[in-house]
Amino acid sequence: MQWEKGKRLGKGGFGEVFVAQLMNSNIPTMAVKSAAEDKAATLFAEHKILTRFRNAPGIIQCFYDQPIGDYTEGTVSYNLFMEYARGGSLTNLIGGGIPESEVRVYTRMILRALYLIHSAGYVHCDIKPDNILAFPRETGTGVCWELKIADFGLAVESSKLIQGSADYRGTTRYKSPEMVASGKLTPAVDVWALGCTVLEMLTGRRPWSELKKKEEVKWRIAKGGMPEIPQWVSEEGKDFLRRCFAKDINSRCYVPGFLELPFVAADRHGGG
Ligand code: ADP
Ligand code: MG
Ligand code: MG
Repeated sequence: MQWEKGKRLGKGGFGEVFVAQLMNSNIPTMAVKSAAEDKAATLFAEHKILTRFRNAPGIIQCFYDQPIGDYTEGTVSYNLFMEYARGGSLTNLIGGGIPESEVRVYTRMILRALYLIHSAGYVHCDIKPDNILAFPRETGTGVCWELKIADFGLAVESSKLIQGSADYRGTTRYKSPEMVASGKLTPAVDVWALGCTVLEMLTGRRPWSELKKKEEVKWRIAKGGMPEIPQWVSEEGKDFLRRCFAKDINSRCYVPGFLELPFVAADRHGGG
């Protein structure tokens, strides 16, 4: 298969993401996550999880049965092809913050996708705006963004969750208290990270932005802190966020009823 690498979209722990175009074809532009041979295992694992979510709304779609090998000049790399998110990541959309009416719609999209992930028996473990991608959609009256969860590189099957594996998963600022304590990973870690993401959409600031060092952030979370919710957030928003930041994972844990909370209930704001 002949394809061309375009501009670089991102760089992460084990690989890079580029725009990709198949040559001599009408297939729309794709994105490709490439990893060198020694880092390919994660890419294959990520691909395998993504195939579980074929056609699932709110989850990035990948192509082909497995990552495609690329043999050039004696080196091997592997490539995971996926649909190209023209809006980039949610981080791009956030800027100085997003109006609460829109944040509610985005939160509902993310929550629904998260529900599919958890129902299928997975925990994503790295929910944050960088890992949520934006696709432009025509609405008749203009363009809006459809969000999809991406980057399943750290996702785990709930049945295989190992005590202590929290250390190398996730991103410090989005970590829940039990993650910082190297405790058990459950779907509740994604719910905490969702709360951080919602707060970031509202404020335009990373969680714990007042703290500069990772160690300080970890210490604050371990001490039972929760990111500060600004006064101007609506009561419904505050209620939603406090539930995301419940210390006890049993009261935080995702329940389908979460989608019924006034902050995200569909009937109030119209549309899907
Ligand atoms: P990593 O595991 O290295 O964090 P990601 O899958 O999160 O890799 O990709 C890194 C970045 O590349 C993302 O934060 C996003 O900005 C960009 N990116 C990834 N996949 C796509 C895609 N399908 N379309 C557009 N941009 C993407
Ligand atoms: Mg990422
Ligand atoms: Mg990753």
